[in-house]
Amino acid sequence: MRIDLAEAARRISAGQPVAFPTETVYGLGAPAFDARAVLEIFKIKGRPADNPLIVHIAEATQLETLVTAIPEAAHKLAKAYWPGPLAIVLPKNPVVPDAVTAGLSKVAVRCPDHPLALALIRLTGPLAAPSANTSGRPSPTRAAHVEADFGAEFPVVDGGTCSIGIESTVVDLSGHEPLLLRPGAISQDMLKHATGLTFRPVIVEKHAEAASPGMKYTHYAPKATVRWWDGQPDSKALILTVTSNRAGSANRIDYCHDFSTFAKELYDRFRQADHEGFQSVAIERFSPDAAPIAAGLLNRIEKAIQR
Ligand code: AMP
Ligand code: MG
Repeated sequence: MRIDLAEAARRISAGQPVAFPTETVYGLGAPAFDARAVLEIFKIKGRPADNPLIVHIAEATQLETLVTAIPEAAHKLAKAYWPGPLAIVLPKNPVVPDAVTAGLSKVAVRCPDHPLALALIRLTGPLAAPSANTSGRPSPTRAAHVEADFGAEFPVVDGGTCSIGIESTVVDLSGHEPLLLRPGAISQDMLKHATGLTFRPVIVEKHAEAASPGMKYTHYAPKATVRWWDGQPDSKALILTVTSNRAGSANRIDYCHDFSTFAKELYDRFRQADHEGFQSVAIERFSPDAAPIAAGLLNRIEKAIQR
């Protein structure tokens, strides 16, 4: 059910989570300081209790209310990339309920680059929000995806199609070593450019004790099997290619080196494959250096393959 900003703010203030658009994917938001409403998010999604949420803010100054220390590098990143697809993990202020961070003593914060998200947060205050999908399903990049998972009556602020389409980059600046917990549209090079620092990627194995707990879970996967394309035609597969510009068949989509559009459409293609009954999604391999967003895109595809 599509609702306007005033209605969304009213429901959120009453403790009822609402889905709203961001530039990465749709979020499911509740007031970050309302533990009961935050727990409702976990219930709606079927999200494991040890998978923390990102707190969304409308201005960098709200960061001060959520964390106990803001290192120079965090200031630099916020100045360079907020609003934008970058979440920064910092030591948690005790006023942030443990439900938000799944008991961790650090909290992830980001300022989303979407006018409706910013307008909503200005009405409600900081919002704790994971992606607005049933746990284990691909993240929603359109309002209709949220309704497909939560039902037609679920309240959604419709902001059209998300411009980026994969979840934010997540970095951890809470310790002495800068860590990259999740690749996304803000690349390693962009992190280094803004801070002069190298962010060590933390590879999180399935079921491992995780620095970023959410990364151990199966995410982003459709019901169809996701695999690398072997170059062969296959009428039972939805084939996604990136570098070959040959005339495609009906079941083949070629992104022609346009990795931004590929990222924007990936989850919609996953949902399309299930909707149209394809047995698999076959994706042409590419290098993590092919484009700034390529490493993030590759990470989501690999997670869908690993399932
Ligand atoms: P989602 O919003 O559904 O993309 O999930 C947010 C992801 O951000 C989680 O799965 C974690 O991997 C990461 N995250 C959120 N909060 C923290 C935190 N306090 N420490 C480390 N990682 C976090
Ligand atoms: Mg998610």
